[in-house]
Amino acid sequence: MLIDRIDLFHVAMPLISPWRTAYGEDYVIESVLVRMASGGVVGWGETSPLATPTYSPEWAAGVFHVLKTWLAPRLVGQDIASGAALQERLGAIKGNPFAKAGLDLAWWDLFARQQGQPLFRVLGGKSPAVTVGADFGVTDSVPALLQQIAQAVNAGFARVKLKFRPGWDLPMLRAVRQAFPDSVFHIDCNSGYRLRDLPLFQQVDEFRLAMIEQPLAHDDILDHAKLQKAIRTPVCLDETVASVDRARQALEVGACGYINIKPGRVGGLTNAVAVHDLCVQHGIPCWVGGMLESAVGVAHCIALGTLPGFTYPADVFPSERFYRRDLGEPPITLSGRSQVQASAEPGLGTVPNLELLSLQTLQHWSSSGA
Ligand code: MG
Repeated sequence: MLIDRIDLFHVAMPLISPWRTAYGEDYVIESVLVRMASGGVVGWGETSPLATPTYSPEWAAGVFHVLKTWLAPRLVGQDIASGAALQERLGAIKGNPFAKAGLDLAWWDLFARQQGQPLFRVLGGKSPAVTVGADFGVTDSVPALLQQIAQAVNAGFARVKLKFRPGWDLPMLRAVRQAFPDSVFHIDCNSGYRLRDLPLFQQVDEFRLAMIEQPLAHDDILDHAKLQKAIRTPVCLDETVASVDRARQALEVGACGYINIKPGRVGGLTNAVAVHDLCVQHGIPCWVGGMLESAVGVAHCIALGTLPGFTYPADVFPSERFYRRDLGEPPITLSGRSQVQASAEPGLGTVPNLELLSLQTLQHWSSSGA
């Protein structure tokens, strides 16, 4: 596909309520949307590293700058035949997986639209149905959290994920387990602890969690391997797995029992599929994570989640959970209890609402100079 034009939109999407994790609070989600055009057909990608480098070393304004200065110009006017060719073309620029993901995701949507095929089929998915879970950040009080969990459990969500950070840890978990003895839970520490906290995680073992997500540093593999050997609960890596090689190394040293795959964090769908395939080879289950993207980014996550190695419910949520009005159309809705469907339309089946896009755009760049 000859890439005719690329447009970038750095956007700020206001959340209904703040999202609290081990790394802080977000009131808006800053994200970068990528529009890629070839022969009159347009594809969309979205990459959301958040507004500040608190989840990973990247941040939205930085991603926008890297994209417009170094990455997008490498693709415009080029004939890019595959996701692998795109990654190779961007390979001279080190790191910056979220920035590369914006282009990779837009390329896949564009490619699928040109084929006239739904994206999930092009990726190799058999069925459009994806099981999803519920996810709760740090709330004002434990009773408030218990109330939210009760709603999720009654609504039939297959599992519930809880953010976990110093000051919001064992007492919260004890109260949750007492109130819901049989539900599937896991905790996400967002890199908030170190190996010296091993005694805490040995206590976590008693709560029969499905997994402990990213307990240690965002770039660590070896300490996670040591922790995994010292506790019964499976460790799940999220932040650590920023590339296909990082996934391979983590699997080789036994650093985890699960991997959470986010297309943005690993550099796009091309690498997300490769990490998925590695997990399948190693017999390690994986699941799809999210960065509170608009429906455009979530639709990419859903298409990915149709692959067979994704056996644990995804962090995919209905639009109304976080946004009064989703920047992407159609909004994400549940198709049944704890389930969403990948679009049967060609490509992603989701596009930004252009009026809302212009309202929420902080910066725009076009390879055409327009
Ligand atoms: Mg996580």
